[in-house]
Amino acid sequence: MKYPCGLVQDLLPLYHDKACSEESVKIIDQHFQECPVCRKYCESLGESNNVLADLPNSALEMEKTASFRAVKKKMRKKQMLTALIAVALLIVIFISGMSVLKSSEQIIQCQEGLTVTISDGDLIARLQGNQANSMRIKRVETEIEGMTKVYLFFYLSGTKWDKVVTSENMFSEYVLCPADKGAAQIDSVFYYTGDYSGIESLSESDLQKVIKNSVLLWER
Ligand SMILES: [Zn+2]
Repeated sequence: MKYPCGLVQDLLPLYHDKACSEESVKIIDQHFQECPVCRKYCESLGESNNVLADLPNSALEMEKTASFRAVKKKMRKKQMLTALIAVALLIVIFISGMSVLKSSEQIIQCQEGLTVTISDGDLIARLQGNQANSMRIKRVETEIEGMTKVYLFFYLSGTKWDKVVTSENMFSEYVLCPADKGAAQIDSVFYYTGDYSGIESLSESDLQKVIKNSVLLWER
C-alpha cells in the first residue's frame, strides 16, 4: 500500500461526492483494490449519507403536512364562523328591516286601486294591491239650500310591510258604513288625508275647501 488508510479515509467524503481531483481518484481506486476495509468504509459512507439525507426530509415533509392540515382546519373553523356571523347578521338585518317596515305607519294615497261601492246596502271601500290596518272616518252633515247633505270622509293607513307582502291582484274590503247604521242616507264619499279635528264644525265654505282637496270616490 502506497498510502496509509487514514489518509485515504480522510479523502473518502470528497471521493464519494466526486469532488476530488483525478489524481486522488486514481490513488483511491488503486487503494480499494488492495484494501477491502477502506472500500467497505466508502460504501457505508454512501448508505449513511442517504439515510441521513432521507430522514430529515421525510420528517420535514410530515411536519409540513401536519401544519398544513392544522392551517386548513383553522381556516375551515374561521370560514364556518364567518358564515355563521354572516347568517346572523342577515337575520338581524331582515328582522330590523321588517320591524322598520312594520312600524312605518303611513297614509295610503288615494290610488286607482281604491273604489267605493254599495254591497247589500253596506257602503264598502275596496283596496286593490295593498291592505290597511287602520281607517279614520268622519261623517259630516250639512245644510245646503234647506237640504241635508251627508258626507263621509275617510282615509286608510297601512305599513310599508303591508305593501311588500300584498300582491297587485290581492284586495281587501273595509266597511265604511253598514246598512243598519244609515248607509242609505250618505250622499257622497270622499277620500280625505287632512286633519279630522273640527271637521264637523267647519263652516260651509271651509267644508267646500276640504271637499275640493279630497277625492270624490262615490256619489249617490
Ligand atoms: Zn485502506
